[in-house]
Amino acid sequence: MPPTVNMGIPGASTPLVDTPTGKRVLLAEPRGYCAGVDRAVETVERALEKHGAPVYVRHEIVHNRHVVDTLAKAGAVFVDETDEVPEGAIVVFSAHGVAPSVHQSAAERELQVIDATCPLVTKVHNEAKRYARDDYDILLIGHEGHEEVIGTAGEAPEHVQLVDGPDAVAAVTVRDENKVVWLSQTTLSVDETMDIVERLRQRFPKLQDPPSDDICYATQNRQTAVKAMAPECQLVIVVGSRNSSNSVRLVEVARGAGAASAHLVDYADDIDPAWLDQVTTVGVTSGASVPEVLVRGVLERLADYGFGVVQQVTTANETLVFALPREIRPARH
Ligand code: SF4
Repeated sequence: MPPTVNMGIPGASTPLVDTPTGKRVLLAEPRGYCAGVDRAVETVERALEKHGAPVYVRHEIVHNRHVVDTLAKAGAVFVDETDEVPEGAIVVFSAHGVAPSVHQSAAERELQVIDATCPLVTKVHNEAKRYARDDYDILLIGHEGHEEVIGTAGEAPEHVQLVDGPDAVAAVTVRDENKVVWLSQTTLSVDETMDIVERLRQRFPKLQDPPSDDICYATQNRQTAVKAMAPECQLVIVVGSRNSSNSVRLVEVARGAGAASAHLVDYADDIDPAWLDQVTTVGVTSGASVPEVLVRGVLERLADYGFGVVQQVTTANETLVFALPREIRPARH
């Protein structure tokens, strides 16, 4: 009987094929597109089909270079702010969400808004609004300057304090220790976030948890899969862009879980052959904004280097699909 990679999950054991070279790739599953990214990209594609180019998109629709370049070639025009969009034109808001002030300025310019904010980001916005209404201090764990954090904080600027990393905990001040809640960005490292929460709770024992996980299912599932395969790997390659929070977290999680090295690549061409010296097992995964075609490119390149055997490491099956935004849904007949 061949040896197996037992990930401790029923049905997830993978037979290890004896290869002449001993070289193999472990391919994480789930990886790549999440339901929110899928919906956001399809929203822009449908808007282009329905209205023709140009369709304006505020910020990168999702944080992936290839996706943005492809949509730009098809006629999407990416802008930083709504005042760059001609009055009355169509504008799509990205998956990361926007602050209410952005909706306001779009309305002032009479823009036709198609909001592709991921419903799981909207959920965090709603939590922020609700706790602000109840006059809580909201400790928002996230990365300063990230679009999602700007959008969420913008729902209740008077109540939200950003906690960007464990070192920021000491500086937090609250008005009433009985009315404090933490919320988070959806794409953080689960372990690091729990460490920050622990530190916050030492300072504020009555700190409340969010009503449900803010770190989304896709972020959590991709981290779990990487953790399962990383101890077997001398190298983990994460396909994703540098500005993609969840992709960068996957590199950190791979290193933390025992991979000897881990690198982020946008394309197969970014792979440095020197990374493969002395390596027999390469782990491959991709961030939630990465189309599968880019992973295929990486696998083909690895095969050229002698890593032709690919074994899938499955830790969850994802079936979630979000309906398209109302403004772009096909009409019912
Ligand atoms: S990573 Fe999570 S929150 Fe972000 S778009 Fe995907 S499902 Fe939504």
